[in-house]
This record gives sequence, structure tokens and C-alpha cells, in this order.
Amino acid sequence: MPEKVALIGSGNWGSAIATKIGVNASACADFDDKVYMWVFEEYVKEEDGKWVRPARGAKPPEGKTWVDEGYTPLTQVINEKHENVIYLPGIELPHNIVACPDVATCVDGATMMVFVIPHNFLAPIVPKMEGKFAKGAIGCSLIKGIEFEKEGDMKPILISDLLQAEMKKSDGAPVVDMSVLMGANVANEVAKGDFAEATIGCTKPENGLKWCKLFNTKDFAVQAVTDVAGAELCGAMKNVVALGAGFCDGLGYGGNTKAAIIRIGLKEMQKFCKVFYGDRQIKDETFLESCGVADLVTTCFGGRNRKCADIFAKNIAAGTPKAWDVIEAEELNGQKLQGERTGTAQDVMKAIKAKGVVDAFPLFSQIHKIAFEGAKPETIIDMKLEKYY
Ligand code: NAD
Ligand code: 13P
Repeated sequence: MPEKVALIGSGNWGSAIATKIGVNASACADFDDKVYMWVFEEYVKEEDGKWVRPARGAKPPEGKTWVDEGYTPLTQVINEKHENVIYLPGIELPHNIVACPDVATCVDGATMMVFVIPHNFLAPIVPKMEGKFAKGAIGCSLIKGIEFEKEGDMKPILISDLLQAEMKKSDGAPVVDMSVLMGANVANEVAKGDFAEATIGCTKPENGLKWCKLFNTKDFAVQAVTDVAGAELCGAMKNVVALGAGFCDGLGYGGNTKAAIIRIGLKEMQKFCKVFYGDRQIKDETFLESCGVADLVTTCFGGRNRKCADIFAKNIAAGTPKAWDVIEAEELNGQKLQGERTGTAQDVMKAIKAKGVVDAFPLFSQIHKIAFEGAKPETIIDMKLEKYY
């Protein structure tokens, strides 16, 4: 029986990865041709050649719907135009990718589930899949973020672990084997077909190979490592470092300074893994894969976190500071800063404080001070490195 693939998410990265999955599902007999892509339904219309949505928080007039007001459901537009006009405009999606607003329909009978939504939106969605996907189904998370226990020592929780626990609850299904795909993957570049690499972190090599088969194309080279935690933590933690890189850009610093931020950031990412996930046998080599140093570099040059941190620093210099959520809304056209409005940097700080290891993370701490405690961006170089390096 061919594998039935479901894609849960359709933002910038979800739509970009659909361009690879769609091609492989249609070309390879291992997979069912049709791939449902779950879309958080929104309403859109074309105005002066640009697709727009109602203003944030707006409601249709009393007794009317957005359709009455001339808008069309995004799913309908995607299925008619084969383009996600909001999150990945200008890129044709394979025609076997079918947009669907109902997540239960999307995962019905699925044997391979790909999760790619900002992690803060996961909680209400996962229970809706209950009893729908096939027994023995496997999952792969493309989500770059991390959750933390809300109380006590704020222990970090991997999104893949959260998904696995939720999936297991569902209809007493057998163990859901979760892998992750992480890498140097700015979505628009991957969608355009510029060559990129990615890393699958898996527990079982045979499942790693299945995922490689689904994602790998001539322009998207995917390799598997048996290190889920290492790959996933790299993908989450680089978001914090990218803020530091953006502050440097906003201040007009050159490549040397950014390279220093990247180097120190990589060491703190590694240290974070050891301090909080010492029991998961995270491999040092994982940091040299696409999910490690390569993702850190691309994010610190071309990512959304970098861009917003650049603007954040420039606004402070101009004497017109702006809140993160305002910058996100103004600059990202509905896309989200990874880790929910830089939330990863805040959560990481809480976790290292709760564990009493703040001094071991001078860069993460300084980034937090600038982003959330009113310190000047210029203080990015005020880290007390001599104690630790
Ligand atoms: P995005 O930021 O482009 O889009 C946001 C998505 O959230 C949209 O699909 C939107 O429909 C959906 N959404 C908005 N409100 C919602 C709600 N209330 N409930 C549910 N969904 C809602 O998303 P993305 O870039 O595809 O990011 C998804 C994941 O992929 C993230 O974890 C991100 O870190 C990771 N990622 C992104 C990139 C990239 O370059 N964009 C690359 C690699 C990994
Ligand atoms: P941003 O979300 O910062 O754009 O990073 C995208 C990414 O994950 C590149 O690998």
C-alpha cells in the first residue's frame, strides 16, 4: 500500500515544502499521489494586483460574511490557482497538493504526517486528529520552536515529544515514531529551487530513509542522523542567536562582529543541549550538519528574526522604539517570528534562570536584556565572556 501523506500547515515553510513533497508523491510509487495540506482558513481578495486579508481583528458587518464582502476562502484560491497567494506568492504548488480547512479530513487514513505550523498554534489542532490517522502512522516535525514547563524549573520540552505524547493518546494508537526535519532552509529560497540541504533527525534509520525519500529532490538534499533532540534543539535555539545578529546589523556592524555572535551562539546552543538534555545522547557531529551551523548562518543573514531585530535596533537608535508584535505585524505580512514573537528567547532565559546557570549563557542573557529589559543594542558586546571561554 502506498504511504498516505498529510501536510499539517501551509504558511511560508509549509507551502515551500509542499513543492518538494508534491513532486515526490506524484513521481514515486511509494506514495499516494494526493497530498492534503491543512490550511488555517482565512479570507482573501485581490486588490490592485495584490492579495489582501481583512484588517487585523476586523469583523464582517452585522449579518454578513467575508464572502458577502467580496472575499474568497484561502483554501479555494489555493486549489484554483495552485498558489498560496498570502504565504508563498509567486510560486506554483504541485497540482496534487490539495488545500483543506478541516484537519480531521486532512489526516484521515494518513500514514506519514508532516507538522509545520508555528508551535503556539498546535494545542487546539492536535486533538482534532484523534482517531483519524492510520495506526502505526509516523510523524515528522518541521517546527522550529520549543515549549517549556510553565512552572517550577521551566524544563524545556521538545515539540516532537509533545506531538508524540498527543498522538499516543489518540485512539490508543501504537507508538507514534516522531522524526524532525531541520536545516538551513529559508522558505522562499527553497521554494524558488535554490539548492539547499536539510537534516532529518530520527530514532529509527528505516523511518529516516522514508522521510528522505519524501523530501529529497535534486535541489533539496536531505540526510538523516539518529539524533532527534540534537537536530530539533539546534532549530529552536538558533532563533535566539539570530536576534543578536539582527541587532549587529541594525547598529551597522560588519561581518567580523556577526561572525563572533554566530560562534559564541553556537557554543551556547551546544551548552544548552548539554545542560538540559544531557540524557538524550546529543551528538557533537549534529552541530556540523545542515540543522546546526548551516541553519545558524543562514538565519543570521537571511531570516525573519534577524530582519525584525535589525529594525528593532534601528528604531531605538532613531528614538522611535517599536514593540516586537508591531514590527512582526508590519514587516511579515501574517508570517510569524519563529517561536512566537521571539518567545523562545524569553523562555530560554526563564529556564536558565530557574536552573541557576545564567552566567554560563552570557550571549543569550545579553540578547534577552536588549530585547526585553530595555538595554541598549550596543551592549550586545558587553558579554562577560572571559569567565567562560
Ligand atoms: P508562517 O509564519 O509563514 O505562517 C503562519 C501560519 O500560521 C500560517 O499558515 C497561518 O495560516 C497560520 N495561523 C495563523 N493564525 C493561526 C491560528 N490561530 N491557528 C492556526 N494557525 C494559524 O509559518 P511558517 O513559516 O510555515 O512556519 C511554520 C514552522 O516552520 C515554524 O515553526 C517555523 O519556525 C518553521 N520554519 C520556517 C521557515 C521559514 O523560512 N519560513 C523555515 C524553516 C522552518
Ligand atoms: P526565520 O524564521 O528567522 O526566517 O528563519 C527561517 C529558517 O528557519 C531558516 O532555516
